[in-house]
Amino acid sequence: MQELIWINGEVMPLADARIGVEDRGYQFGDGVYESLRLYNGRPFAIDRHLDRLELSCGGIDLELPIDVDDLKDEMLRLAERVRIPDGFLYLQLTRGNSPRNHLFPQASKPTLLFYIREIPPVGPIGGGAGQSLLSVPDERWNRCWVKSISLLANVLARNAAAAAGVDEAAFVQDGWISECSSSNLFVVIDHMLVTAPVGPRVLPGITRAILLEAAKAMGIAAEERPIMYAEAIAADEIFIASTIRELAWVGKWDGNAVGGGRCGPMTIDLHKAFREYVAAN
Ligand code: PMP
Repeated sequence: MQELIWINGEVMPLADARIGVEDRGYQFGDGVYESLRLYNGRPFAIDRHLDRLELSCGGIDLELPIDVDDLKDEMLRLAERVRIPDGFLYLQLTRGNSPRNHLFPQASKPTLLFYIREIPPVGPIGGGAGQSLLSVPDERWNRCWVKSISLLANVLARNAAAAAGVDEAAFVQDGWISECSSSNLFVVIDHMLVTAPVGPRVLPGITRAILLEAAKAMGIAAEERPIMYAEAIAADEIFIASTIRELAWVGKWDGNAVGGGRCGPMTIDLHKAFREYVAAN
């Protein structure tokens, strides 16, 4: 099936879309993005993603070139048109095309685009062999709460993990674990759900936020606080969370068996609650 893209107000085949060589996204990584999952053909948690997009824009002094409600309508319209039950919608906003200069252009015309692609549905809750993690130094900038397209440090980290035959890279700095290359990290210690606070080194993940809300509603004690690597690898349960993976339990970290070597009971309960939230929204 032909994939479609919405680019600066026009819908066309993805393969036909072009951006300029001097687009600041291409030359400077000067832009932000969002990645949404489609369930039953509908973009999930679209309002949360648009809120985060606006937060990211604020973080790099970039203005959305379209009213956010109109953008939402356009995204929903494209989703209706492509009719892809299980998919993801990738949205990217850059500071646009202008003669190369570190300084922001005077009259900026941002490049805004989004497209939808089919992806396999997530597997059964608690299934699979468990994720493996590799600790890597956190070489990113201090605005990781911005969903910036400048992802080189994340890309290098993920490839270092892959080269070691490992699924995901975990950023560990001075003995503290922040998050992973494309997911947030949760641990369960003595029945307490723990994840690092959003901020300089942690993205405000949408899955993360929904899980913390679900935990509260379920009466699960939860804490947002810095996590030491030493306590994480000794935790009763470990899982990573993201739009693409939902929740994925971690069974190995730096080559050692962790988290009891199985998908733990709280991880299963939270994943069920997440699926219920998806079904209800
Ligand atoms: N942290 C990073 C660095 C990510 O790239 C992602 C994936 N977008 C996440 C966390 C998880 O965020 P979300 O649940 O919104 O997909």
